[in-house]
Amino acid sequence: MINRMGVAEYKRHAGSHHWIANNGGADKHIEHPICPRCEKIALRGNGRKGSWEKDRIACCPSCGWHGKTTTRLNEYLQNQMYRS
Ligand SMILES: [Zn+2]
Repeated sequence: MINRMGVAEYKRHAGSHHWIANNGGADKHIEHPICPRCEKIALRGNGRKGSWEKDRIACCPSCGWHGKTTTRLNEYLQNQMYRS
């Protein structure tokens, strides 16, 4: 998506939705899943589609994506996946 993004810049991007930003930003959501579509922090699902704990279902408040994901923010940062 965006090449050569620094970690601080990526965290700003990831936590830019107001639900996340008003709630401590990326640092407070380090265990949350990442939306594979827009690379922002997604919310852990617990609705009709299934739960995060059981099914790894997440939903993204920014772009409306929902589905299965296994990538969490801490792994994303560790592996510098935002740079690809
Ligand atoms: Zn998204």
